[in-house]
Amino acid sequence: MKEYKMFIDGKWVAASNGSVFLVTNPATGEVLGSVPNGCNSDAKNSIEAADKAFKLWSKTTANVRSELLKKWFELIVSHKKEIAKIMTSEQGKPLQEAEAEVMYAASFVEWYAEEAKRVYGETIPAWKTDKRILVTKQPVGVVGAITPWNFPAAMITRKLAPALASGCTVVAKPAPQTPLTAIKLFELLEKAGFPNGVANLVTGNAEEIGAALMDDKRVRKITFTGSTDVGKKLMAQASNSVKRLSLELGGHAPFIVFDDADLDKAVEGALASKFRNCGQTCIASNRFYVHEKIFDTFIVKLKSMLTGLKVGNGTEEGIDLGPVIDKKSYEKISRHIEDAVARGGEVLLGGSGFHGSEVEDAGYFFYPTILSNLTEDMLIMNEETFGPIIPVIPFKTEEEVVKSANNTNYGLAAYVYTNSLSRGIKISEALEYGIVGLNDGAPSTAQTPFGGFKESGIGREGGHYGMEAFLEIKYVSIGL
Ligand code: ADP
Repeated sequence: MKEYKMFIDGKWVAASNGSVFLVTNPATGEVLGSVPNGCNSDAKNSIEAADKAFKLWSKTTANVRSELLKKWFELIVSHKKEIAKIMTSEQGKPLQEAEAEVMYAASFVEWYAEEAKRVYGETIPAWKTDKRILVTKQPVGVVGAITPWNFPAAMITRKLAPALASGCTVVAKPAPQTPLTAIKLFELLEKAGFPNGVANLVTGNAEEIGAALMDDKRVRKITFTGSTDVGKKLMAQASNSVKRLSLELGGHAPFIVFDDADLDKAVEGALASKFRNCGQTCIASNRFYVHEKIFDTFIVKLKSMLTGLKVGNGTEEGIDLGPVIDKKSYEKISRHIEDAVARGGEVLLGGSGFHGSEVEDAGYFFYPTILSNLTEDMLIMNEETFGPIIPVIPFKTEEEVVKSANNTNYGLAAYVYTNSLSRGIKISEALEYGIVGLNDGAPSTAQTPFGGFKESGIGREGGHYGMEAFLEIKYVSIGL
């Protein structure tokens, strides 16, 4: 069995207490390797290394940081197939999707390599003739980056690239399900030639590593992508030392189709927004509101697209939907369907899955499913499903659909399909969401702000907004 190490202060090391945990393939249960079960003292060592490195790294020129990021970008691109294979084996998404994620992940590194050179300050006209006002930006300091399993590569680079570009140093903790992709990215980061301690990777005990990051005053910023529950915990812990926080949490995206929409485009968008990563994305559409006039036609078109989708092990050719991450996830999806059916919901397609492995916690697959006859009190209408289920609800008016769409504590992404420009703009403005896909089912790219309203998070990642998250503003008042 392959024994992996974590990366602290430029060295590949085991956990200080010697313990490990196993990483398995969610499609087959095959053990892929052992990874250090890092604890509090390993996190402390990483913080120490990052703090030491910050003193030099924060003083490097933007050009130096940019060049290193460019090298990392090129290495990621040239290892695309290898990283994708690792990702599919530990996460389950089909290979072609894993490759697309590697390129998406790389795009953040490229974009921030360029953006590193554009951290501009400002001069402000002074209120007295013998004063000058200067505003500059400085890296915030040591950053703790905690990432989830659904995008094992992109969530690492979306955080690390802007942090490193801005002159911060990082302690990253990947999700326990998918540390191997992170380890591969760090091998390439080492190859690119970043100085020791600038980027550290600690795998292992989430609560201990999280607490070590939170308790240490040298860590000035936490950037987290994951569940709203853990995000709330981190927010409470961050208050002790008033750490800067970026939180990218859960979602419950509405997908609204008006009767004047291009229905083929809407169905295509529905598939893109719902089935990427088997529905396990925080911007996955979770509630489909379809105008009553086109409701039946939309369902016919949707059904005909879904019946062609192939479910299976993501390493095999032609697979569209891989396994869900684990048994717990499968049970949640099943519970959402059972609850809907028990309250009068109707299964129009699919509605079930299968357990295709000898191993208890692996090999859980779900068929694309369409549900109708739904009511607002059902679980699926209120909780993030993280599975390939499309609940379709008819609506009559703009007011009614906006009210239903906003009736949630989440506010990450929403999708609207209409061919009316004025309706599209009005509805986009009325939706309480950080991201609106207007006739677009795939809005995520490196140059745009990604983040949510309400309990979907704080701050934005991506674009120049994502860089600002790692910069402090300093105002220097100069007396002449
Ligand atoms: P999910 O339910 O999708 O796995 P989580 O929010 O539990 O989402 O996990 C996202 C990331 O947060 C993972 O890297 C996980 O290990 C980490 N995590 C979980 N609990 C804590 C915690 N108490 N403190 C810090 N990190 C945590």
